[in-house]
Amino acid sequence: MVLLEHKAFHMLPYEDDLINRAADLMRTAKRAVAFTGAGISTASGIPDFRSPHNGLWQDVDPLAVASIFSFRQNPERFYEWIYPLARLTARAEPNPAHFALAEMERRGYIKAVITQNIDMLHGRAGSKNVFELHGHMREVTCIHCFKVYEAKGVIERFLEDRQVPRCLECGGVLKPNVILFGEQLPAAELIGARNAASKTDLMIVVGSSLEVAPASQLPLLAQRNGARLIIINFEPTFADPEADLIIRGDAARVLPQIMRCMETVP
Ligand code: NAD
Repeated sequence: MVLLEHKAFHMLPYEDDLINRAADLMRTAKRAVAFTGAGISTASGIPDFRSPHNGLWQDVDPLAVASIFSFRQNPERFYEWIYPLARLTARAEPNPAHFALAEMERRGYIKAVITQNIDMLHGRAGSKNVFELHGHMREVTCIHCFKVYEAKGVIERFLEDRQVPRCLECGGVLKPNVILFGEQLPAAELIGARNAASKTDLMIVVGSSLEVAPASQLPLLAQRNGARLIIINFEPTFADPEADLIIRGDAARVLPQIMRCMETVP
C-alpha cells in the first residue's frame, strides 16, 4: 500500500515520481471518480475563469453578468459577455486529458466523471457516466414559456448575428441550460455526484480552483468518507492540505502520462 502525505509533494522533486504514485493509487482504487473544472478544457482552447490574465473575469463582476437575476434584467449584457466563450466552446475539441479520463473509465479504472464544465467535452471524448453539475450547452430554454430547444442552431445563429436568442413561440429570451449564480444545481446530477463522491475511495480532482460551492465541497465529502485525493492543478486550492498527492502540471500532459503508467507498472 502506498501511503502519501500532501507534504510528499515537497519531498519529491520529480514529476515522474508523482505520476508513478498517482498511477499506483489509481490502480489499487476500486471506485475512483474524477472531478473536473474549467482547467481540463484550457488545452482545448476554452479559457477558464480564474487563471491569472485570461480575461474572462477580469474587469467583470460575475454577479453582474452571470447571475440569474442579472440575466433576467439584462440578457444583452450576458450574451455580450458570453460571446467569446460560446464561440470558443463551439469550435473546441476534446484534448488528451478528456480522452485519458474516457479511457480510464472504459478500462474500469474510474467509475464516473463529475464535472463543473458546460462544454460537453467529456461526453464527446467518450466518457459515459458524467455528472454535469453546472448544466451544459446542449439545450436552451425560454425563460417565459419554458419551451426547450436544441442549442446547436440557436448558438450558431447567435454567433453570426450577436442578437439575444428568442423563443419562436412567445418571443421570450432563451437561456442556455447552464447554471448561473443564484440558480439551484440540477437535482438529479447533484444527487448522483454526491452519491459517487461519498462512495468513492479515490477522487482525482483536475483543473478546478474549487471556489464554486456546492460543487467545491465534493472532494472534501469524498475525503471525509475515507477517499484519497489526488489534485492536478496549476494553482493551489483550499483542499490541498487534505490531498494525498498534488501534481502542479498541465492536465493534458499529466493525465495521459498517468494512464500510460497504469498500463506499464505491474
Ligand atoms: P476556475 O477557472 O475557477 O479554475 C480553473 C483552475 O484550473 C485554475 O486553478 C487553474 O490554475 C487550473 N488550470 C488551468 N488550466 C490548467 C491545465 N491545463 N492543467 C491543470 N490546471 C489548469 O474553474 P472551475 O473551478 O471549474 O470554476 C469555474 C466555473 O466556470 C465552473 O462553474 C464552470 O462551470 C465554469 N466554466 C466552465 C468552462 C468550460 O465548460 N470549459 C470554462 C470556463 C468556466
